[in-house]
Amino acid sequence: METPGNLFVVAAPSGAGKSSLVKALLELDSHLAVSVSHTTRAPRGQEQDGREYHFISNAQFDAMIEHGDFFEWAEVHGNRYGTSRNAIEARLQAGEDVVLEIDYQGALQIKLIFPYAVLIFILPPSWEELRQRLQRRGEDHPEVIAQRMINARHEVAQARHFDYVIINALFETALFDLKTVVHSQRLKYASQKRSKSQVFAALDLI
Ligand code: 5GP
Repeated sequence: METPGNLFVVAAPSGAGKSSLVKALLELDSHLAVSVSHTTRAPRGQEQDGREYHFISNAQFDAMIEHGDFFEWAEVHGNRYGTSRNAIEARLQAGEDVVLEIDYQGALQIKLIFPYAVLIFILPPSWEELRQRLQRRGEDHPEVIAQRMINARHEVAQARHFDYVIINALFETALFDLKTVVHSQRLKYASQKRSKSQVFAALDLI
């Protein structure tokens, strides 16, 4: 599918700092909107329906799959998550850039539908640092952290399928890297031609 807007997909193992980086990026970049996914998991803490996620039941999720409402969906850590057509299609068609913060399975599905989507993988600088970040977060029991570390091995191995890799050792550096990827993508010939089609047409660059 071709749209004037750019599509960025950010994946990472839990604890690599993906959410903080995407949040900071969105605050700096008014041309970028984040997609709100649907999930069958229950809200955590201060999460609000329609803001972090659309929280729905398993039956509702099944119905959405059946109606073909998802561009992609995947089971992650025992719950289902999906990117709906509604969440991104109209924005991309209107020329807005959209960022998806999803897992690697979803990222690979998105690349098949939107070949120009930019896949970005955030890596921690080491296994030890990842473990310490998960512990410092203080959100999870030791067994959950152990399970997340096991999952992370498999997730990190998928980084090779991504277009860009950002190592989040120092937050500010990683944020700069992320901004650079977004900016470079916007300047690519194909991207400029999609988003600035009137300028291209005026210059007879058909
Ligand atoms: P959490 O429950 O911690 O918010 O998210 C768990 C994982 O699910 C994270 O890796 C997150 O990026 C991923 N995720 C969130 N939304 C989606 C989605 O729409 N599709 C897919 N495939 N993964 C998602």
